[in-house]
Amino acid sequence: MSPPDDASPPPADPGIAQQEELLTETTLPLDLVSALAGDRQLSEADRLLVDDLKAARGNMFYSDLLYAVTHQRFPPETAEGLWGRILRHKYEMSFAMQRNIRIAVASLDYLSNLTAELTSATVICEARVSDMVRIAQHDSLTGLYNHSCCYRQIEMALARHSRCGAPVSMMMLDIDDFKAINDRYGHQEGDRVLAAMGKAIAETIRATDSCCRYGGEEFAVILPATDAQEAGVLAERLRARVTQNLPAGRSVTVSIGVACCAQNTCTAQELVRQADEALYRAKAEGKNRVVVVPA
Ligand code: GH3
Ligand code: MG
Ligand code: MG
Repeated sequence: MSPPDDASPPPADPGIAQQEELLTETTLPLDLVSALAGDRQLSEADRLLVDDLKAARGNMFYSDLLYAVTHQRFPPETAEGLWGRILRHKYEMSFAMQRNIRIAVASLDYLSNLTAELTSATVICEARVSDMVRIAQHDSLTGLYNHSCCYRQIEMALARHSRCGAPVSMMMLDIDDFKAINDRYGHQEGDRVLAAMGKAIAETIRATDSCCRYGGEEFAVILPATDAQEAGVLAERLRARVTQNLPAGRSVTVSIGVACCAQNTCTAQELVRQADEALYRAKAEGKNRVVVVPA
């Protein structure tokens, strides 16, 4: 069978990986993409999530859809057209076979047999891919999101909340004098303190908040729909609680910088920069304290 006339999308662009990170299984599950393609009915919650993602991702949305199905990166300029052609192919296959051909199978047939873009495709269980994605997104010591996931989490919070006028706050938390713990008790004990700290933070924050290990002994907490004053109160609560439940006999304090983005006035980078600045001030003013900017 020869490909239809309009069935020659440009090849997948490996360079897109460096240009912009695509949504992964956590944010855009294959099951949702499959539903969007007509494999099952979309619930009201699915519809709202898709609307949010479309608004947040703009012209990257169709690259995200194709990535969810193929794990290949397609440039945004051509992704929407390609998604449409794959959908048409799915419906033609389903009609010919007299049963529903799911989007993953239709994509594989289209991209390997019609356009020859996937030349060495193998079958791998989605659960296995999800496992690998989960490992790539999480910090192995604390189980929290890792640094590379942190900005995505902030961007998603800004896109979902500040777009409709709700503030988004974040905390940057740094363990005070952590080097002394390593120096005195060794790095393995330092690791145990870090793991306990991560657990304590995760147990203290609200279900809607998310927490990342930003780096070494620094943690970021993202607080959607939370203004600066409320975030300051939560930070004080966190400061008091995270020092409990550490490995026996270990006591540490933490400094926390808090910043807030009200009404979509800043980017993820800017929010992190402000929280960092607040943290710097908390350290300079004597540690074991919370500083909120703007005060
Ligand atoms: P400050 O109060 O100014 O933050 O002082 P500090 O000692 O906490 O900060 P500093 O930046 O001087 O040292 C951070 C230490 O954290 C040094 C580094 O070895 C340690 N560290 C970073 N990542 C890890 C890790 O994964 N495990 C362990 N055990 N230590 C780590
Ligand atoms: Mg530090
Ligand atoms: Mg420190």
